[in-house]
Amino acid sequence: THFGFRTVAKDEKAVMVADVFHSVAAKYDLMNDLMSFGIHRLWKRFAIHCSGVRRGQKVLDLAGGTGDLTAKFSRLVGEEGEVVLADINDSMLKVGREKLRNKGIIGNVRYVQANAEALPFPDDTFDCITISFGLRNVTEKEQALRSMYRVLKPGGRLLILEFSTPLFKPLNKAYDLYSFHVLPRIGEMVARDAGSYRYLAESIRMHPDQETLKAMMLDAGFDSAEYFNMTGGIVALHRGYKF
Ligand code: SAM
Repeated sequence: THFGFRTVAKDEKAVMVADVFHSVAAKYDLMNDLMSFGIHRLWKRFAIHCSGVRRGQKVLDLAGGTGDLTAKFSRLVGEEGEVVLADINDSMLKVGREKLRNKGIIGNVRYVQANAEALPFPDDTFDCITISFGLRNVTEKEQALRSMYRVLKPGGRLLILEFSTPLFKPLNKAYDLYSFHVLPRIGEMVARDAGSYRYLAESIRMHPDQETLKAMMLDAGFDSAEYFNMTGGIVALHRGYKF
C-alpha cells in the first residue's frame, strides 16, 4: 500500500511521518475533535489522572505536538516545576507554542525539537514522561523506550497513551470501516489531505497490541508495567516504572 509500513524502509517512514505532520499541523486540533467525537479529551484526562504528577515536578511531554497534555501539566507542576514539550516536527511545535502562549501558559514550559529515539537530556532528569498518540509514529520503538527509561528519574514513570487493539472482535469490522473509509474522507474534506489520514489509520492497525507493548516496555528496562483499556480497548494507557 502507498502508506503501509511493511513496504517502506525505515528512513522513508521517518520522512513520511514528517510529511504527514507538517501537512496536518494547522488543522490537527480540529481533526482530533472531529475524528474522536471529542473523546480524546477524556482519554487525555485519564492519563493526567494516572500520572500522579505533583507541584514542583519535572515532566516530559514527548511527541507533545500541539501541547494538550503540556497545558494540563503546566498547571499541575506550578512555578517550581517544569514541563518540556518535545516533538520531532517543527510545524507541530510551532502550532503548540502559539496555542499555549495564547492561553497564557508561559513561565514553566520549554520547547525542544527532539527525536524520541535519541533524547537530548541527561540521565535521571524527569519525574514523569508522557507520550500520547506518538509512539506508533516512532520508527525504532524499542530504542525510544530505552531512551525514555534512561532520562526518567528513579521512582519516575512513563505513560503511553495510544490506540490499541479493541477487545470486542465483532466490532473490528465496523472500526476498520470507520478508520479506512470514514477517516480519510473527513481528512479530505477538512484538511484537504486524505493520504495523511489513511496513513494514520494504517499506523493504528500496525501498532503492537496491549500485551506486546507491555512486554516491550519490560524488555526496554522498565521495572514494572501495566495497562488500562479505555473505550473497549480502542485506546490503552500503559504505565511503566523505573525503580
Ligand atoms: N501528543 C499530541 C496529542 O496527543 O495530541 C500529539 C500527537 S500526534 C498524533 C503525534 C506527534 O508525534 C506528532 O506531533 C509528531 O511530530 C510526533 N512524532 C513522530 N515521530 C516522532 C519522534 N520520532 N520523536 C518525537 N516526536 C515524534
